[in-house]
Amino acid sequence: MSRRLAQGFSGGEPSVAASVEAVIALGSNLGDRVAILREAVADLARLPLTGHVRVAPAIESVAVRVDGPDAAAPAYLNTVALVATRLAPSVLLSYLHAIEDRHGRERRERWGDRTLDLDLIAYGDLQSLSPRLVVPHPRAAERAFVLDPWLALDPDAELPGVGRVADLRARLEGDR
Ligand code: ATP
Ligand code: CA
Ligand code: CA
Repeated sequence: MSRRLAQGFSGGEPSVAASVEAVIALGSNLGDRVAILREAVADLARLPLTGHVRVAPAIESVAVRVDGPDAAAPAYLNTVALVATRLAPSVLLSYLHAIEDRHGRERRERWGDRTLDLDLIAYGDLQSLSPRLVVPHPRAAERAFVLDPWLALDPDAELPGVGRVADLRARLEGDR
């Protein structure tokens, strides 16, 4: 084997993106919530260029409407998944929307009931304010139903540009 060819096999690194940890919040308050979350996690594990899926135990939380918490609305089941991915953030978000669609997500009113909501909470330490993709998710820091499952998976987690998740959680008043 020529020296050049040998380098091509052994020394030359393939030009693929490094894996990034993405934090995905899952929520459901319509239908068979347990089954929907379980299937959504399986969908995440099947995404291309994505693996090492870890999921926190689900928690139940009161629905939040535009005008505040609504105990009369169907309650949410929420969890957080950490994945390692080489998908670009915008591509990952498109896949999340496709998974929502597959589970019958409809978008009528803001913060209305939904079979499945998948939010990209963080993507490595990326801070992006593009109109189509905002990361870290701008409302994550005020949501115990995001911070609690995330902390269950990673007590040392940080919300990029914002602070330690444990500190953010301690600052939140009240319960989930
Ligand atoms: P909230 O964003 O307050 O949790 P929601 O999940 O109900 O509310 P959606 O209707 O699911 O809001 O999404 C609104 C828009 O936000 C979508 O068009 C989506 O593309 C966009 N978006 C921008 N950044 C993100 C992100 N990091 N994660 C999820 N959606 C995002
Ligand atoms: Ca959401
Ligand atoms: Ca969403």
